[in-house]
Amino acid sequence: MTAAPPAPAATLVTGIGQLVTNDPERGAGPLGLLRDAAVVLEGDRVAWVGPAATAPPADARFDAEGRAGLPGFVDSHAHLVFAGDRTEEFAARMSGRPYRAGGIRTTVAATRAASDAELEAGLRRFLAEALRQGTTTVECKSGYGLTTADEERALRIAARHADETTYLGAHVVPPEYAEDPAGYVDLVTGPMLDACAPHARWVDVFCERGAFDGDQARAVLTAGAARGLGLRVHANQLGPGPGVRLAVELGAASADHCTHLDDADVAALADSETVATLLPGAEFSTRSRYPDARRLLDAGAAVALSPDCNPGSSFTSSMPFCVALAVREMGMTPDEAVHAATAGGARALRRTDVGVLRPGARADLQLLDAPSHVHLAYRPGVPLTAAVWRAGVRAV
Ligand SMILES: [Zn+2]
Repeated sequence: MTAAPPAPAATLVTGIGQLVTNDPERGAGPLGLLRDAAVVLEGDRVAWVGPAATAPPADARFDAEGRAGLPGFVDSHAHLVFAGDRTEEFAARMSGRPYRAGGIRTTVAATRAASDAELEAGLRRFLAEALRQGTTTVECKSGYGLTTADEERALRIAARHADETTYLGAHVVPPEYAEDPAGYVDLVTGPMLDACAPHARWVDVFCERGAFDGDQARAVLTAGAARGLGLRVHANQLGPGPGVRLAVELGAASADHCTHLDDADVAALADSETVATLLPGAEFSTRSRYPDARRLLDAGAAVALSPDCNPGSSFTSSMPFCVALAVREMGMTPDEAVHAATAGGARALRRTDVGVLRPGARADLQLLDAPSHVHLAYRPGVPLTAAVWRAGVRAV
């Protein structure tokens, strides 16, 4: 973690026209909405939340002048340690031309060739970009090194800056193992895991045709679990497959993508503690069908949203953009989408201290240049972020 400057002892943020707390004890639906609200931030924690008229005094005072407030966004799925970009691949795809050379291997080659300083600078740039758009918690995966040394390096760098780190040695089989995918799984579950586990909280696998099948994914996840890592799965993105049910069976915190689900997949998610993390930036940027959030929510599944920031399939760090897509294209109400982008992301990371504004939570608060959180979907593409505090420190 980057050392933060000291926060003022206590700051009263008052004059919040409408505040999303995500605290169910507040009533007013799952968002726990309060009108004419105030929040006291003390050190890196929330000290008090309630009506502005009854707020306690504090050392410093900030008047929100009627703006809407909500917890900082919680991004539970990002690939931010890489070098180079894939502009030409995107332009080719959007021109309707098949793109043959490259793909993820282009990024792997560039990442292996980059210095530690270059990778770290890139990561910091993307985290700052996300923060300017209200994102105060970020999970960051490895997965563009695909050698023991390069995966360990990516996680070591990520752990310095990101809130959560995830070992994704099983992103794709690298070219040097093209003839021996079983050998690569042995590496990912053996020496590479040994080197990476100390820098990661989670293990993830891309369970998809062309990446890792159900048996290989199970091997990766069970090896990670045996090392004490929590589980996440890239599941059912490009077609039907075993990823979602494997995630549920093994008790994964999250099954990510969930675009191609059958009824049994939906039922399994609804009956589990596994969050369905939907990543509509990927469908947007590949002109693909969006996941059906309405079906998941109606079945009772927990849903999170994330931009899936990566240089190939979704090169956006913008949670507001995902909220707008989720409402316009995936059948979510504005309230559901905002909940998924905050409390949903926290649940997908099994965190109770972020994505919520109540005493004791981390002091992650954002204000919008808007009277309501609904404007995140109602005014797509408009930079509404007016102010952001992360761990009590004013960041924007
Ligand atoms: Zn991903």
